[in-house]
Amino acid sequence: MTLETIRVNEIFGPTIQGEGALIGQPTVFVRTGGCDYRCSWCDTLHAVDSAYRDEWHPMTPQAIMMQVEILSGGKSLTISLSGGNPAIQPLGGLIELGRREGYRFALETQGSLARDWFKKLDVLTLSPKPPSSGMETDWQKLAECVEAAGPETRTVMKVVIFDDADYTYARDVAARYPELRLYLQPGNHTPSHPQEADSAIDMAGIMERMRWLVEKVTTDKLYTATVLPQLHTLIWGNLRGV
Ligand code: SF4
Repeated sequence: MTLETIRVNEIFGPTIQGEGALIGQPTVFVRTGGCDYRCSWCDTLHAVDSAYRDEWHPMTPQAIMMQVEILSGGKSLTISLSGGNPAIQPLGGLIELGRREGYRFALETQGSLARDWFKKLDVLTLSPKPPSSGMETDWQKLAECVEAAGPETRTVMKVVIFDDADYTYARDVAARYPELRLYLQPGNHTPSHPQEADSAIDMAGIMERMRWLVEKVTTDKLYTATVLPQLHTLIWGNLRGV
């Protein structure tokens, strides 16, 4: 097994998964540090911006699993691998180790880098970034991610939507991958806050985008989409580490 260290920003939980395919399900998060993107509305800058590098610590897979087991009380559950972009970290050894102990693994990435260990995941969420992010999608790389995961891993798409251009982009994703479930999530402009829920969170704006998105999907008969808000934002605002 690889002993390569993984750059970890934070490990927390158990809490619930707040987004997408596993929404509402208990999980422990392992958030890695570093990202190859810099989205205009990134809400986890503490895992992206090198100014926070002092908060990123190299950990072995064994050390990570020890911490997860303390948090989970030794009872296996789903471990959510998040970031930053967790795909830039060597996570294959951690997934092997955790699976041997009965844990399940879900990972979310923008789909800019395919890894052979995607096939060991239970759930892979590919979250290509729409125009409002300011990033360009490399469709070839996204296709490589889908292929790397293979048939055993449950692969889903998730697109964050702020405006019409983002919605058009999501429709393009749906057309390219009709076989994959597509989750649409209204965007949240405010960054996560280290200690307390940010009182300036734009809840009214999120709900307005949610209603607008439901209207778009039903009017367009985009019946393959699932529209979901970020559950943790509704519960805790942008409080970090919950
Ligand atoms: Fe932030 Fe995700 Fe964009 Fe990276 S890909 S900058 S973590 S929103």
